[in-house]
Amino acid sequence: MNLDPLTVDAARTAVLEKQMTASALVDAFYQKIEAEDPAIGAYLTLCKERAYLQAAYLDALADKGDALPPLAGVPIAIKDVFTTEHVRTTAGSRILANFIAPYDATVVQRLEAAGAVILGKTNCDEFAMGSSNENSGFHPVHNPHDHARVPGGSSGGSAAAVAAGMAVASIGSDTGGSIRQPAAFCGVVGLKPTYGRVSRYGLIAFASSLDHVGPFGKTVKDVALMLQCMAGRDPQDATSADVPVPNYLEHVGQPVTGLKIGVPKEYFGEGLESEVRAAVEDAIKELATAGCEIVPISLPHTEYAIPTYYVVATAEASSNLARYDGVRYGVRASESKALSAMYRRTRDSGLGTEVKRRIMLGTYALSAGYYDAYYLKAQRVRALLARDFDQAFSIVDAIVTPTTPTVAFKLGEKTDDPLAMYLADIYTVTANLAGVPGISVPCGTSREGLPIGVQIFGKYFDEPTVLRVAHVVEHAMAAVVNPISALPKP
Ligand code: GLN
Repeated sequence: MNLDPLTVDAARTAVLEKQMTASALVDAFYQKIEAEDPAIGAYLTLCKERAYLQAAYLDALADKGDALPPLAGVPIAIKDVFTTEHVRTTAGSRILANFIAPYDATVVQRLEAAGAVILGKTNCDEFAMGSSNENSGFHPVHNPHDHARVPGGSSGGSAAAVAAGMAVASIGSDTGGSIRQPAAFCGVVGLKPTYGRVSRYGLIAFASSLDHVGPFGKTVKDVALMLQCMAGRDPQDATSADVPVPNYLEHVGQPVTGLKIGVPKEYFGEGLESEVRAAVEDAIKELATAGCEIVPISLPHTEYAIPTYYVVATAEASSNLARYDGVRYGVRASESKALSAMYRRTRDSGLGTEVKRRIMLGTYALSAGYYDAYYLKAQRVRALLARDFDQAFSIVDAIVTPTTPTVAFKLGEKTDDPLAMYLADIYTVTANLAGVPGISVPCGTSREGLPIGVQIFGKYFDEPTVLRVAHVVEHAMAAVVNPISALPKP
């Protein structure tokens, strides 16, 4: 069986109609991972025992002729920032290299309850801090389209696993773009839902007010199916919203005639590669052909998004990461005589350069005397950025932009220049600061054969419209995207 084009629907149907047992499907995926992942590096840990147990349970259900759950037998991958009981959870950090979480994250628990089979935990930038996966404490991930290039980050392993057909779908976290940016670089679909739509319980915190949980898939329909099983109020996460979960699938495939699509001029300025611009403009033309009204708009505070993000994110990170002290979790530096030396040595040896840089930046921004100048000011600008979206959404139904200013860059290209690396998220961080949903969908291919992504933002909790627009773009652009694995024909 060719696993590359396998979608959520196809995998589930194969198990449902007994063309293949869930166990045989798991076997096939592990064989592929063993053959191909050494060159990609998408996985940090495989959880075979757990996967085969779940597969056997689903096969038993199928044998009895019982109704199968919505993701029955679908092999998925989980970014290693989500806790998994009995399975190592590292957050891509050496400081958690030996950490076995005592409980499952809510999304892990919900996806398994829906029948998904978890193949393993995927590589990522340490504590989700990065745009290229080169900050992993273990090893980098290579872009399946060109092994000399990055897959994006921080959820690089989750994006690459789907792009390379080493998982049907996967889960990532997005604090400033970490689902959408790697989705664009790897040529898959990645959705960051509204803040509060999906529980963060069991997500190892980077910046709690910006952290979002969402799916990767090969198709818009697949991410809709995944979201359906993940979304909804969770009493374990006080910020999860008590908002009814719509039937997302019903909206995928609905016409977009009459929808107003905003195109913000701030996302098409300096720094945008011409090939990316052309592909995104083509996608916009297709939306017009499909009956949308294209409306030029402005999100005037966009230029302040990156500095605002890096103040808020580092401030929250400096507080969240204080817990890794060698006492409560993970690795402890040995042979320290005093407690304070043990803390210092544990953090010094366990945390990587980028994480230390951010803890220092955040601690500085929060310190007495600087709080008003940096943190408070950033919070004020954050409110202005959210207002930009509110005002835009009073006149349009969705907003379309590029996901990234460039295609996937080369490994090592930006590692010496953190500021250049931070700019990889210039079009994605705004949605995290405001909390609105955003998706990246493949919309083209560069001359060098690299994927290009288009981003669609929606109103709060209006994932249905985001998915609807995304689906139209996906089908209109299918002829020009060049996935590693051929997508099923629309
Ligand atoms: N690249 C951004 C950062 O380094 C965003 C990361 C993320 O979304 N987790 O912070």
